[in-house]
Amino acid sequence: MNKENYKSVITEILSNDKIWFYWKGRVALFALLKSMKVKENDEVILPGFTCVVVPNAIKYLHAKPVYVDVEKSTMNTTLDRIKGAVTDKTRVIIVQNTFGLSSEVDIIAGFAREKNIYTIEDCTHGFGGTFNGKPNGSYCDAAFYSTQWNKPFSTGIGGFCAVNNPEIIPKLEEINNGLSNPSAKDQIVLSALILAADYFLNSKTYWKLRSIYRFLSKYNLVIGSSQGSELNSTEIPADYFKGISRVQIKKGVANLRSFVNVMNKRKENAIIYSEFLKRHFKYHVSQDLFCDHSFLKYPILVKDRKKFDELAIKAKIKLGDWFNSPIYPVKDNWERWELSPELIPNSIYLSDHIENLPTETNDADYVIRFLEQNIDELI
Ligand SMILES: *Cc1c(COP(=O)(O)O)cnc(C)c1O
Repeated sequence: MNKENYKSVITEILSNDKIWFYWKGRVALFALLKSMKVKENDEVILPGFTCVVVPNAIKYLHAKPVYVDVEKSTMNTTLDRIKGAVTDKTRVIIVQNTFGLSSEVDIIAGFAREKNIYTIEDCTHGFGGTFNGKPNGSYCDAAFYSTQWNKPFSTGIGGFCAVNNPEIIPKLEEINNGLSNPSAKDQIVLSALILAADYFLNSKTYWKLRSIYRFLSKYNLVIGSSQGSELNSTEIPADYFKGISRVQIKKGVANLRSFVNVMNKRKENAIIYSEFLKRHFKYHVSQDLFCDHSFLKYPILVKDRKKFDELAIKAKIKLGDWFNSPIYPVKDNWERWELSPELIPNSIYLSDHIENLPTETNDADYVIRFLEQNIDELI
């Protein structure tokens, strides 16, 4: 009953009822790649400014991730750059919604269709936003979404996919038969984390709790956004291919109730940040991109991130660190993921300078005052 309810709210927002749920967004991506029959030696194109779990899903199928550089202005790839990376082994192109923005996704999907290449939109940042008037995720053969802590709405961890090309559905359903159920322990631990986040996570505790949580997940002591083996190996972890749990569905239904308000707040704050940065001649999201941007985070570029972080911690501003690495959060051994930094100079530049301003805050003026104090020295 609850699951149907959850699905129907999402269906309404996406105008799509071909939805399947998973333990995490990355598992949805893995299922989609499999349903598109990605196999050993196939190539999958993806942006060079992403989360490591994306190339991981490709590597788990023994296929080759082919990274394409992004534009500094949109933080996304372009059709031209993707065209340059296509070979006769290309099976899938992944385009990404980054911080709420999708770019050229319609023309990239059109190009791929002509070439008989599948497309997947990584909509982990884009749920609820639109592109050229249609819900994000509408243009590719399929899209996947994340409901992890900091994504458009949260179920603690979690994700789903939406399919636009019915051709892949029979295979996807067959693959989904192999999903395991989250254990009782998984559900208890996740409930406890959700409770803790609801009651203890505020601007005073944010930095400390974030670092404790990341430490514990790295050593597999809690259910983390990523477990240790996802950050230092390209072998599929045992226990990876899991379905959604009751705990997640319940939290999702509750959080979707305030979703529209949260989205509006994000946009309002983003406009305040953008106008401020523009007035000071600093990097900012261009007005032309606003109609398509849902501003999950507001990206800024800083001169000295270490110093900026120190000051932000002191001022208790909830900064985000996406994507301070081209395959976030992995900082080294990139060859393991077949990433050559010299081929993605813009992505490297962005990952060296990026910070994310919070867009859900009720006090954007406080953030602006903080920026104002540091604008000349640090931004
Ligand atoms: C968060 C994220 C994912 C993975 O989502 P999970 O639900 O954590 O698996 C994939 N791609 C990008 C760009 C992300 O930011």
